Amino acid sequence: MSGETRDASLTPVVVVLGCDGSYPGPGGAGSGYLLNYSTTSVLLDAGPGVFANLQKVQDPDLLDAVVLSHEHPDHRSDVDSLALFARHKDRRRPVDVYAPPGLREKTYYGDDTELCWHVVEPSYQIEIGELSLRFVATDHGPPTLAVRVEAASTELGSFSGGVLAYSADTGADWSLEELGVGIDTFLCEATYTHVYEGTFRHLSGRQAGAVAGGARVEKLLLTHRWPTVSKDDVEREVREEFGGSVHSVRIGETIPW
Ligand SMILES: [Zn+2]
Repeated sequence: MSGETRDASLTPVVVVLGCDGSYPGPGGAGSGYLLNYSTTSVLLDAGPGVFANLQKVQDPDLLDAVVLSHEHPDHRSDVDSLALFARHKDRRRPVDVYAPPGLREKTYYGDDTELCWHVVEPSYQIEIGELSLRFVATDHGPPTLAVRVEAASTELGSFSGGVLAYSADTGADWSLEELGVGIDTFLCEATYTHVYEGTFRHLSGRQAGAVAGGARVEKLLLTHRWPTVSKDDVEREVREEFGGSVHSVRIGETIPW
């Protein structure tokens, strides 16, 4: 753990805390991404194992907010761990948690006073510190929100990053273009290969590549692969559809965006 402070960077980064699809593989974790920029720190999704990995890189007390994409446990179960942690800390205020309707009711400690819940819906735009987030609905069953994240200029200097988009979980009936133009880095689910297409509301490598190619993003970060699915097979499919930079994220990586 890095202690009570962290270095404030003018380049926004995503720290991967968990990236397994649907359930954690051996030593893995569900979805969780720490977005750090300047003095702002946001946890985007909190699947099983994410809270443990967060503590390896940062004091959870430094979080400004948690944003949860949807109610499936692989994206939100560790918000209960955060609630218990917050009980035992002398926080200056409750932790802000932004989530779609109904998610709070699925949370065991959803009524805990250490969590301050805010419902977010498609088209909502919110500001958390120096980050701006805009949401759209995906194709995934329960209310699920993809998000566009932009960093603002700060008192410390001018903004030096790009625009990040996160697909959350989605089937093929969704377009990244709903999140607008100018997306540089796209953190996209690629759960399996084309042989599973149509069986679940997720994306294959081929579909993820097509989504990214259609929106002309520069850098594609692949995530949410089932632990039983080959990374190489998924990446091969992606590259048949997308000519830009492709990378399958791993726990512990810090990636500028
Ligand atoms: Zn999932």
